[in-house]
Amino acid sequence: MCLICDRIGMIRRGENPWFVREMETGYAVIGDHQHFRGYTLFLYKEHGDASELFHLAPARRAKFMEEMCLVAQAVSRAFHAEKMNYELLGMGDSHLHWHLFPRVAGDIETYGNRGKGPVWWYPMEKMYDDSARPGEAEREEMKRALGREIDRLLAEGD
Ligand SMILES: [Zn+2]
Repeated sequence: MCLICDRIGMIRRGENPWFVREMETGYAVIGDHQHFRGYTLFLYKEHGDASELFHLAPARRAKFMEEMCLVAQAVSRAFHAEKMNYELLGMGDSHLHWHLFPRVAGDIETYGNRGKGPVWWYPMEKMYDDSARPGEAEREEMKRALGREIDRLLAEGD
């Protein structure tokens, strides 16, 4: 069983409270834990046999990358990132999904290389602590902010 497929099933049934926008190749969702405020995922629509970017046909891959970039730009604008981090890992679930982290100075405190480094150098138990889960009102506000920027960028691209 795949957690990403489960979450996509919830989106398709209208039961995923984290869902923001559907694109041609994937779904933009806000992360369950928001220590890195604005943390967003972009989930590829199909699981299938594709567990690597190079498994996708070139045109499909190009579209997936383009849409991921648009979502990342929307995250950056909505949550005032100093720098975006992009990660496609899949060691837990091999379903293609991007982790998009808006980064700001001090967000890993003094962990890593004296406060610099990838998000994963921040302790997992702090990153996934219940206190990092937004309340319903905050979650809805974040979804509105991100959705608004995605819509703007899509309109600019027309
Ligand atoms: Zn899957």
